[in-house]
Amino acid sequence: MASIGAVTRQIAALEISSKPNTTGSTRSGATHQKKPSQNTGNVSKLLSKFAAPHPFPANATHTKSGSSSSLASKQPSRPASPTKTTNTTTTTATLTKPKPTAAPAPAAAKATATNTTIDIGKYDGGFEIDDETRGEKVYGEAAAELALDSSVCGIRPTREWHLTDFDIGRPLGKGKFGRVYMVRTKVEPRYILALKCLYKSEIVQSRVEKQIRREIEIQQNLRHPHILRLYGYFHDEKRIFLMLEFAGRGELYKQLTKYGSFSEKRSSRYIDQMADALTYLHSKHVIHRDIKPENLLLGINGELKIGDFGWSVHAPGNRRTTLCGTLDYLPPEMVEGREHSEKVDYWALGVLTYEFICGAPPFEDLTGYNATYKRIARVDLKIPPKVSPEARDLITRLLQYDPEKRIPLNEVRRHPWIVKYRSKGPSTATPS
Ligand code: AMP
Repeated sequence: MASIGAVTRQIAALEISSKPNTTGSTRSGATHQKKPSQNTGNVSKLLSKFAAPHPFPANATHTKSGSSSSLASKQPSRPASPTKTTNTTTTTATLTKPKPTAAPAPAAAKATATNTTIDIGKYDGGFEIDDETRGEKVYGEAAAELALDSSVCGIRPTREWHLTDFDIGRPLGKGKFGRVYMVRTKVEPRYILALKCLYKSEIVQSRVEKQIRREIEIQQNLRHPHILRLYGYFHDEKRIFLMLEFAGRGELYKQLTKYGSFSEKRSSRYIDQMADALTYLHSKHVIHRDIKPENLLLGINGELKIGDFGWSVHAPGNRRTTLCGTLDYLPPEMVEGREHSEKVDYWALGVLTYEFICGAPPFEDLTGYNATYKRIARVDLKIPPKVSPEARDLITRLLQYDPEKRIPLNEVRRHPWIVKYRSKGPSTATPS
């Protein structure tokens, strides 16, 4: 288990608050193909050690006050020289000029030898292939909105990042706006990350500039073991790149599709982790508003990670009336266009609990949108007999028409159905 100090130093290697040369500074049926990892024997052990870390040890109890800033060291550090990778299966991107070089960050030098042995897989040249055919330069207001660079962001500036700072490995998937790759930083200690590319002109075409910017701003400021970490971001003329925590076990939705439903034990552990993450989000005045299996990823130990903030709203003391999200997970107050609060996420947690155990959301009506709408507004809840009385109790308490009557998250975490299955060790949800 890494100590807090070691983790802080590792974070410092990524979050360098100065630039070089300064002194302090809808269900879509996903098409992602999971390639079997090479080095299967040791890779998951190594990844859990060398994947870019969370600021908390895996079994740390998260509290409101221990949240964000205390562990994000702002120690000045300097970027390492871009060096050639020793991994022969990895191709280094050569699209743009490398940055000036500097001395390696000393804190993590020891990790290098082992970390370079992790096979990040074979790069298929996808970034360059896309770049030839995809996207255009954007201009004006949109260009300004999408000029996203974590090295100059106000709250938590990082070191300056560039595509040439990474060895690129296997493709992890394709999203709406671009591809995602497994990468390793060239800077010590050579962290494993997921690098997500977004094409600016496609973002503009979909008119989601503000939403993407908001997603990035929100995610960058969050530090929680069950929230996918965004370490940094940078852009070029046509693209934005997000440096994301690598979720070693991929999409939760794929697992749900594969197994149909989850055991109550597994469901309970996921819901516990979700409640923990939502408590943290709400303490930061962030309402997620789009909780659903498609937005959840799994870490290398099977732990749940909220991975998508597209519909999140930062709303201190604010009640919103915008209709958003997928209908199946929307609460009555949202489908009816009434004002809503963070209690929309409590409802979604109830829907999620039901879907994990039963394999389909509770108000789904295949005859159409209107029928689902009516079932939600009436809270037409039918829980199958196979569901245990404890799980049934929790679902019913979360799926209350009146938001004020929904069971609070701290009580969810003390509910008998949650306590019964909680493991004593690190808060992970390994399939049973
Ligand atoms: P997205 O653009 O977020 O929909 O990502 C496309 C696909 O890439 C997802 O469906 C995942 O399979 C994969 N992916 C995205 N982010 C990550 C990550 N942080 N770690 C591992 N795989 C990811």
